[in-house]
Amino acid sequence: MKLIFELSKPGRGNKVLTPYQTTLNLNPTAEVPAVEIPAAFRRSSAPRLPEVSENDLSRHYNALARRSFGVCDGFYPLGSCTMKYNPKINEVIANLFKFTDIHPLQPKHTVSGCQTVYALAEKYLCGITGMDAMTFQPAAGAHGEFTGILLIKAYHDSRGDYARKKVIVPDSAHGTNPATAAMCGYEVCSIPSTPDGMVDLDALRAAVGPDTAALMLTNPNTIGKIDKNILEITKIVHDAGGLCYYDGANLNAVMGVARPGDMGFDVCHLNLHKTFSTPHGGGGPGSGAVGCKNILKPFLPGSAIGGGGGEQSVGQVKMFFGNFLVVLRALAYLMTLGNSGVREAAQTAVLNANYMKAKMEEAGYVCAYPGICMHEFVLDLSQLKKETGVSALDVAKSMLDHGIHPPTMYFPLIVHEALMFEPTETESRETIDEACAVMAEILKTAKEDPEACHTAPHHTVIGRPDETKAARHPVVRYDFNS
Ligand SMILES: *Cc1c(COP(=O)(O)O)cnc(C)c1O
Repeated sequence: MKLIFELSKPGRGNKVLTPYQTTLNLNPTAEVPAVEIPAAFRRSSAPRLPEVSENDLSRHYNALARRSFGVCDGFYPLGSCTMKYNPKINEVIANLFKFTDIHPLQPKHTVSGCQTVYALAEKYLCGITGMDAMTFQPAAGAHGEFTGILLIKAYHDSRGDYARKKVIVPDSAHGTNPATAAMCGYEVCSIPSTPDGMVDLDALRAAVGPDTAALMLTNPNTIGKIDKNILEITKIVHDAGGLCYYDGANLNAVMGVARPGDMGFDVCHLNLHKTFSTPHGGGGPGSGAVGCKNILKPFLPGSAIGGGGGEQSVGQVKMFFGNFLVVLRALAYLMTLGNSGVREAAQTAVLNANYMKAKMEEAGYVCAYPGICMHEFVLDLSQLKKETGVSALDVAKSMLDHGIHPPTMYFPLIVHEALMFEPTETESRETIDEACAVMAEILKTAKEDPEACHTAPHHTVIGRPDETKAARHPVVRYDFNS
């Protein structure tokens, strides 16, 4: 496929806009004086932008779109990422010019509708999480964790309790949890899981003390299980004077059913771009909204509706009020589903995951942990690798030939040759059945013709790129001389 620069022909630009603007008088004289940009900051020559016709441009982007894969193309069971179908109505609402053509520095009385969006989103999401207040500043889940742990730090500091230097993180946590604790200047104290994937309570009791600032718990954890001892866990931490952080990035399994606030957590973040319906995966804008109990409220960053940002605030964590349109989509999604719909979505997500897990076991795959799962489950392919040489990577690559996006691979780290599936509630039984049939076929191929799996995929544009090279030495610049 040609690059846009290779399609370029001098003089073939798109000149439609200029006469259009003149006829409609969309180009009124500016009310502010023109400012000459200082010579030092000006280009010495015009940028070499590609010159293509509208037709060429449109075909170019369509060709690129055909080469990518998204939820609208097929099954996308990427564990821990909740690649659910995002209803198009949310996009329509997020594209209304009254929401897009605003500026965060506009006088407040001109954006009262947007303030209402924040107020309602806060009300509903606090209702879902059992928290008392929320900030929408953080731009992603990991950013929300960072903000939440800063709140906890500010709380201990405000009490003069400077001895609390450790954050306890079970080994079944998402990788961002220990990274967050370290970013906030804490020492990370990792504790093991029991064979059934629960936090080891004895190890937790032994770990807590006057130096415990917080526990960070991913729930459901990265193996797709709710910790059955959750009340005991938060009690142990609170009794030691620490606070409890709930990583709610995967709230898809619990929303409308159980609330972090009722489980004893003091602060939690939500990934609005995962659970609450914003298309993600391409690195686009997200929202890691953070909810907290009243004891942490004084430390919140400032909000669009006037709360937080006081004397004890941890300060801004992002300019202005966060990614507003993601919050708007979440609100549209919540208002479409209503109370019972939110609950039903979570229940269906769990049902779909358990249905798929049972079918995979029937097909001969081994699950890393037995029993009922929440919204996702993890396969352990180490036995298959030992017997046939076919690895989790080979199986994932084989799925590409069948039009299925592979699941999350080699995560969580506590399972070797892991494949983590999250079908989500928006897939039909037929789609899941088809995917399971594909997986059964791949297993058969692995046993009969392992080489076919080692060399897969055979029908995609790119087969097995050198991923290390792509990550370490990406070529992102066009060289006009090449
Ligand atoms: C996705 C995820 C995160 C990180 O969220 P980002 O928006 O990618 O920063 C954190 N914790 C869990 C459990 C997740 O699934």
